[in-house]
Amino acid sequence: MTPQVVMSGMRPTGPLHLGHWEGALQSWLRLQESARCHFSIVDWHALTTEYQDPSRIRGAIREVLLDWLSVGIDPEKSVVYLQSAVKEIAELNLLLGMLTPLGWLERVPTFKEQQLQLADRDINQYGFLGYPLLMTVDIVVMKADTVPVGEDQVFHLELAREIVRRFNGLYGDCFPEPQPFLTPIPKLPGVDGRKMSKSYGNAIYLSDDAAAVAEKIRPMVTDVRRKRRSDPGVPEDCPVFALHRAYSRADEIAMIDCECRKAGIGCIDCKKILIADVNGFLEPFRQRRRRYEAMAVADILAAGNRCAAERAAATLAQVRALMKI
Ligand code: SF4
Repeated sequence: MTPQVVMSGMRPTGPLHLGHWEGALQSWLRLQESARCHFSIVDWHALTTEYQDPSRIRGAIREVLLDWLSVGIDPEKSVVYLQSAVKEIAELNLLLGMLTPLGWLERVPTFKEQQLQLADRDINQYGFLGYPLLMTVDIVVMKADTVPVGEDQVFHLELAREIVRRFNGLYGDCFPEPQPFLTPIPKLPGVDGRKMSKSYGNAIYLSDDAAAVAEKIRPMVTDVRRKRRSDPGVPEDCPVFALHRAYSRADEIAMIDCECRKAGIGCIDCKKILIADVNGFLEPFRQRRRRYEAMAVADILAAGNRCAAERAAATLAQVRALMKI
């Protein structure tokens, strides 16, 4: 199916990094060329885990917006908006909550996983249990037929389809069943070799300047076999090489692949190439970011909010009519 109406969102909980680019943003850029895209900064979702100290969410909203604009999300092509500015989402969340069985939410695999992973926080709340329903509402209120997701998120979309089928079956056709647009699950390592993640403190951010990138890459762990300059290495076992694969030219990758194995190149020189390549990759983002920083980005968001609210209001009018309320 060709995507016609797309919806996706990100929580404003911190700056975005190269993993976000690999896993989502590059797919969003492709989709915005051919479909009507809705990209939401989902601040109510952030509250499900940050409710005890929500003070950072406001600042993070602007950062996420700037990150999106800097990579090329174009507000002329896509509707970029803040979830909490569209009050119809809260109303639809309440209405769909009436027909969503508790068991459907309790069996969402991430519910139990997150409870274990975030054991330092008390997230045993109604809002946290209900976040897959809120996610469904984000999608269906825009009547999206396509949602970019990694394979690990497909279950959430199946739940959304079940809720849609239940609503359409009870009251009449209203919502399309959203289909997944599979995005790559990023395998990008962070600078410590583990998966790149804000919570591990090992990420290269889209907003990092050239000096910050160099500072992060220089001390990176490499293949443990290369204790001395003369020790040959195995590039597949080196996180520096994994980043080369993503951001270096084919001829550089081939050269490093060959020279590392015979100790023809040292790790310091190898990292210098990577620093230049990652900075080369990020530079167009930085330039675009500077242009947007000089503009009133709040106005961009306000225009997107109005557009999203209009579409949501039309959906809610139809929902109320079908439910006869
Ligand atoms: Fe890694 Fe490059 Fe060193 Fe090989 S030469 S171990 S790929 S940093």
